[in-house]
Amino acid sequence: MGLRTFFQRYTLRLLGLILLALLGGSIAYAISEEMGLAEVEATGTHRLDLYSASLDREIDKYAYFPATLGLERDVISLLSAGDVPSEDVNEYLEQLNNSAGTLVIYVLNRAGHVVASSNWRRPDSFIGEDLSYRPYFVAASQGENGRFFGIGTTRNEPGYYLSSPLLKNNEIVGVAVVKVSLEQLEQSWATVEAPVLVSDENGVVILASVPSWKFTTVRPMDNQQRQYFEQTLQYNARLLSPLGLIEGRKLNDTARIVRLHHQAAHSMTSVFPVSGAFIAQSTPLRSNHWTMTVLSPIKHIDSMALTRALVAASGMALLYSLLLLWYQRRQHLHAQIKAQQALQQAHDELERKVEERTRTLQAAQDELVHAGKMAVVGQLSAGLAHELNQPLAALRTLSGNTIKFMERGDLASAQGNLDRIAQLVDTMGALTSQLKSFARKSSGAPQPVDIRRALDNALFLLEQRLRHTAVTPSVHFASPQLLALCDPIRLEQVLVNLVGNALDALQNHPSPRLTISASHQGEQILLTVHDNGPGLSDEAQKHLFEPFFTTKDLPAGKEGGGGLGLGLAISAGIVRDFGGSLLGENHPDGGAVFLLHLPAAPAETMPHV
Ligand code: ADP
Repeated sequence: MGLRTFFQRYTLRLLGLILLALLGGSIAYAISEEMGLAEVEATGTHRLDLYSASLDREIDKYAYFPATLGLERDVISLLSAGDVPSEDVNEYLEQLNNSAGTLVIYVLNRAGHVVASSNWRRPDSFIGEDLSYRPYFVAASQGENGRFFGIGTTRNEPGYYLSSPLLKNNEIVGVAVVKVSLEQLEQSWATVEAPVLVSDENGVVILASVPSWKFTTVRPMDNQQRQYFEQTLQYNARLLSPLGLIEGRKLNDTARIVRLHHQAAHSMTSVFPVSGAFIAQSTPLRSNHWTMTVLSPIKHIDSMALTRALVAASGMALLYSLLLLWYQRRQHLHAQIKAQQALQQAHDELERKVEERTRTLQAAQDELVHAGKMAVVGQLSAGLAHELNQPLAALRTLSGNTIKFMERGDLASAQGNLDRIAQLVDTMGALTSQLKSFARKSSGAPQPVDIRRALDNALFLLEQRLRHTAVTPSVHFASPQLLALCDPIRLEQVLVNLVGNALDALQNHPSPRLTISASHQGEQILLTVHDNGPGLSDEAQKHLFEPFFTTKDLPAGKEGGGGLGLGLAISAGIVRDFGGSLLGENHPDGGAVFLLHLPAAPAETMPHV
C-alpha cells in the first residue's frame, strides 16, 4: 500500500488517534498541574506559617525592651528633672546596647530631642538630635508602643525601631527607642528554602532572602506617598523601584500565581530561583503591620506535567491502537462467520435444489419408463399380431387343405399337413411361453448369487448345443467366488440367452471360440461373453434390445426363443430389474462381446445358490 492510500484509508483513525492522544495529554497535564500546584501550595502554606511564626518570635523578643528603660531610675530622673549626669545614662545605655546586641538605644525627652544614647561616644551620635517627626516618637508620645521600620538618617542603616513611652507618676516624661538591625531579624531565616520577603505597611520590601529585593515595592506607589516618605526620611531617600511581580491566576484567597522577570543582578546573589513562575502566598504578621510573602517556584511542575502528559498521550495512543486492533479483529471474525453462514446457506440451498431436481428427474424418469413400457407394449402387440397372423393364416390354409385331402382320401398329404400344423402350434406355443417371461416379475428381494454357479447351470442347459457346435467355453473368473445381488433363476435365463446367441453366431465357424470372464469392478461385477463369430452389424447394433429384432430365420425345432428377437429384450429387462446393465458391442479382436454389469453383494454375505 502506498503512503498516500495508507493516509487516505486511515485518515479518520489517525485523526482519532491524535485527538485522543491530545485529549489524554491535556487532561493529564491539567490534573498533574493542579496536583503539583496543590502540593506546592501546601508546602508554601506550611513554610509561611513557620517563617512568620519565627519572625514574630524574633520581633517579640524586643517588644518590651524599650519599656524596661522606664524601670531605670536614672533614666526617668534625667528626663523628668535632669538632675542626673547624662554620661551615667549614656554609659548605661551603651552597656545595655552591647549586651543586648541591638543597634542603638536612646532616650528622647517630651520635645523629641535625644537626651541620652548608647552611641554617645561617636562623633555622629544622636545626642541632641530632634527626632520628633519620626512616627515612632509620635506614637510613643501618645502613650502607644511605636513600631517603625526605617533607615537611619545619620548612618543610613536600616533598622526596626521599637519605642515606648517612659512614665513617671503616670505621666509621659519621655520616649525610649531601641533600634534592632534587620540582620538580627533575618537570623530566623537561616533555614528558608524558598524566596521570602516581608513588606511593610507601605508595600516596601524591608526583609528579603534575596538581598537585591530589599527596598523595592510590591505595589505601585503614588507621588504623594513618595513625597511623604521623602519628608519623613523613612527610607532615607532610597529609590524604591518596583520589584516587578506580574500577577497571574488567583488560586484562592491566600495563594496566587505570579511571575518575576529575570534580572541579571539577582541571579548572582541568590541560591533560589529568582525569576520565572511562583506561587505567592502572603500572611500578615502578628506583631506589626508587615506582610510576609513566600514565593514557591513552580517551574518543575510544568516539566513534570509535560512528562506526564506525554506518557498519558502515548498511553492513550497505545490503548486506542489496541482497541482499534481488537475491533478490526472482531470485524474480521464477524465477516468470517457471516461468510461461513452464507456459504452454509448456499450449500443448503444447493442441496435443496439438487433434491428437488432429483425428484423432478425421478418423476420424469418414471414417466419415461412408463412411456417406454407403453411403447414396448405397443411394439410387442404389433410384433405379436404380426408373428401370430402368419402361422394363423398358414393354419387356416393348412386345415382347409387337410379337409380337402381327407375328402379326396389322400391321407398321406393330410397327415403331412397335420404335422405341419403341429409344428406351427409348437412355434406359437414357444412364442407365448417366451411372452410369459415378460410377465414374470422378480421372485422377491435380490439375494447374493454365486455367478460361477449360475454360469455352470446355464452351460449345463446348453450342453447339447455346445457339443453340437464343438465349442468348449474358456471361463476366466478373477476370484473363485463372485457374488452378485440378483435372482439366480433369472440370471441363468440371461446367461442361457447370451451364450445361446454366441453359439448361434459360431454355427458353421471353422474354429469357434467362446470366452466368458468375470471380475469385480468397484461396486459391481462385470461378466463378459465374447465369441469370435461375425460380430454385430450396424443394423443389429441399432436395434439389438428391441423386441422382435432378429437376423435369424425361424429354424424348425429350435429351443428357446431363438429367431424370435425377444431374447435380448427380455434379458435387458431382467438385468435392469437387478439394477445392472447389459451392453453389446463388437470386440476389437473380432466377434461380438456382451458386457453384463451386476451389483456386487456385500463381501461378508453368504451365497444362496
Ligand atoms: P434372436 O436370437 O431370437 O434373434 P435376440 O434378441 O437374442 O433374438 O438377438 C437379436 C439379434 O441380435 C440376433 O438376431 C442377432 O442378429 C444379434 N445377435 C445377438 N447375439 C449375437 C452374437 N453373439 N453375434 C452376432 N449377432 C448377435
